[in-house]
Amino acid sequence: MNGYDIHTHSVYSDGTTQVNEIARLAAMSGLPGFALTDHDTVAGWEQARKAAAQYGLDFLPGVELDTKFGQVDMHLLGYGFDPEQGGMQTKLDQLQQARASRIEQMVVNLAADYEISLTQLQQRVLGTVGRPHIADELMRLGVVPDRATAFATILHKDSKYYVAKQSFHTLEAVRLIVAAGGVPVLAHPAAIRHKHLLTAEQLAQLVAAGLQGIELRHPENCPAKLAEIMRFVPDFDLLITGSSDFHGAGKSNRVGDCTTPAEIIAEIRARCVLPN
Ligand code: AMP
Ligand code: FE
Ligand code: FE
Ligand code: ZN
Repeated sequence: MNGYDIHTHSVYSDGTTQVNEIARLAAMSGLPGFALTDHDTVAGWEQARKAAAQYGLDFLPGVELDTKFGQVDMHLLGYGFDPEQGGMQTKLDQLQQARASRIEQMVVNLAADYEISLTQLQQRVLGTVGRPHIADELMRLGVVPDRATAFATILHKDSKYYVAKQSFHTLEAVRLIVAAGGVPVLAHPAAIRHKHLLTAEQLAQLVAAGLQGIELRHPENCPAKLAEIMRFVPDFDLLITGSSDFHGAGKSNRVGDCTTPAEIIAEIRARCVLPN
């Protein structure tokens, strides 16, 4: 039996497909259900619920937050929370605003060398803005062939155009998701793009703060990094998840590439204030 794909992005953040398309792809792949985890927004939840019902799928609402713990970049998934609880919606609004001014600054930097316009970019973005949208503009201008190339060059952290995001501590993010009645799960801790790896001490602190799961199956996993963290991950009583991190045409990851078994989904739902 296929599992659920519980890490996907739509046009409400940096995915390139509509929510309906994610539901259709999940149904076509024979998955029992999916979660929508757009960056810093819950704007797609309503549409996802409807689309899931249409295709006879289960839906688990979610979000992905970009955080940092010391030197380590950590992405945190939150499932089944109530945005109106624990100051979640206020924080999401703040994150959106911070993202907008950061992208504005990067476009200003880029405009010195490229014909890029903030107005055009803003017109095309429906929800949470990010570097992937700048990458799309650079593709339209014929500067890069795809997002991956843009990220490896012009949009790379070491590029002169790069502007860092305001830092959000992972421990604070875990507590926020818990306060909103949700289940926090650490996303892709062994992804190839991570420069610094999660440590056992950090994981202990995250678990103490309320972390409940870890996404160990992910298409961008690096086997060596995974082996490294697997030296201590089993010491913690965590729910193990797997997902595709689908971004439509923005990445090669396909819906259902990695999945999470129904028993784990049931456990996540049992711990959520808003399980559907
Ligand atoms: P930002 O949030 O603006 O810093 O941009 C990071 C986002 O870009 C992440 O959410 C990823 O989904 C996406 N991303 C990171 N690296 C790549 C890549 N190599 N190709 C395509 N998308 C990427
Ligand atoms: Fe993304
Ligand atoms: Fe992520
Ligand atoms: Zn993601």
